[in-house]
Amino acid sequence: MLNSSLKQFSTLLAAKKISSAELTGEFLKRSQALNPGYNAFITINEETSLNQARAADMIIASGGARPLTGIPIAQKDIFCTKGWLTTCGSKMLSNFISPYDAAVVERFNAAGAVNIGKTNMDEFAMGSSNETSYYGPVRNPWDTTAVPGGSSGGSACAVAARMAPAATGTDTGGSIRQPAALCGISGIKPTYGLVSRYGMVAFASSLDQGGPMAKSAEDLALMLNVMAGFDTRDSTSLQREAEDYVRELEKPLAGLRIGLPKEYFVKEINDDVARAVEAAIAEYRKLGAKTVEVSLPNTKLSVPVYYVLAPAEASSNLSRFDGVRYGYRAPKYIDLDDMYRKSRAQAFGAEVKRRILIGTYVLSHGYYDAYYIQAQKLRRLIALDFAEAFKQCDIIMGPTSPTVAFDLGEKSSDPVQMYLSDAYTISVNLAGLPGMSIPVGFGDKNRPVGLHIVGNYFTEAQMLNVAHQYQRVTDWHMQMPAGSQE
Ligand code: GLN
Repeated sequence: MLNSSLKQFSTLLAAKKISSAELTGEFLKRSQALNPGYNAFITINEETSLNQARAADMIIASGGARPLTGIPIAQKDIFCTKGWLTTCGSKMLSNFISPYDAAVVERFNAAGAVNIGKTNMDEFAMGSSNETSYYGPVRNPWDTTAVPGGSSGGSACAVAARMAPAATGTDTGGSIRQPAALCGISGIKPTYGLVSRYGMVAFASSLDQGGPMAKSAEDLALMLNVMAGFDTRDSTSLQREAEDYVRELEKPLAGLRIGLPKEYFVKEINDDVARAVEAAIAEYRKLGAKTVEVSLPNTKLSVPVYYVLAPAEASSNLSRFDGVRYGYRAPKYIDLDDMYRKSRAQAFGAEVKRRILIGTYVLSHGYYDAYYIQAQKLRRLIALDFAEAFKQCDIIMGPTSPTVAFDLGEKSSDPVQMYLSDAYTISVNLAGLPGMSIPVGFGDKNRPVGLHIVGNYFTEAQMLNVAHQYQRVTDWHMQMPAGSQE
């Protein structure tokens, strides 16, 4: 049952083969049993979840069920959740009980889904390994000596270990796709502006985007149906007609043009990852797709550009955490200034401080033109590269991450090495495009490999179709880590 799709859970619920309270109880039991080893959840509120499940059972009984009604979903701890501790992985918010729901949480509530817990994450979503969390690292369920990726590592681990049927994530530079790849699950970062950022703790507002993480593309489509939608409370939310992301899943792929950027298949990529990605592309050819070589000449600039822009935005966004209105306040201080200083010094971790320092530096008088403005110009060029490439192809493919999951501690003392694990994902955020990762096999040490699928703006339905057709003929997405089998 643990491996069931969201649709299968929904069918079981509708047929009264199981109640939402029973289903939620099963997943809670599993989460409680596995969490001490994996550390995927920061908060589990058994009673709150079960109450929500009982309410869902009443909706089902009354015939008002929708596709996700009664299904337990884990929420990344970056989404404000009314009455729940919402920490964003930081000591700064370690005492913050949110008084309101993020738009994403509201939407899942309205759909009748059950919140099964808040997942661990890198502090303020800054990281690629979950090691910057104030709550300690998450373990990769395929190998507990490896990282799960980040920053949505708790969500990725929870889905991979079947502690939750699906989860939410956010992606500023790869945080849905990279942990999905490293944990062998599926995840999609939608086009910027499709999912409301209201109530999602801000890291780099022009890049942040929420999205679903699940076992399969079909599940992602159902989740995206709930998550996407216009919201007046987010000034960059897109006002578009609602779409059904399930509608194209079954379309055959004959004639699909897959663009393979020559800059992606270079020496930086490990052989084991390249092998699995090439095998997946061969499978796509069998499904009737054609491949064309494309070029994204500014790929190399994406990491440096991101590490100017993201810290700049973060330094501004994080200035709200001052110990005055909410969050941590230093117990001892002399005056207001000292209180600000001590609260921030005591409650932010090293990576967050590093970003604030870089961000303030690149925004300061005299450096603004040299760094920030230059980076903005390059961001434009990176977006134009994709626009050129999409003249020759419908979809772009490559590896999600240059390596499989690395060992805990392997990169934590070398920020630049850590930053490079997002070399393929970051440009997609800079361009505002949708990107996804699906599992396509295993590499060194039997750790999962992800295929990166990048679409043009608003082509989520097509991307999900492309992923689903592959998942119809392969079973990588159905494989479960040994330690979490029933
Ligand atoms: N790993 C990248 C960073 O540390 C991206 C994180 C994210 O997407 N939130 O900033």
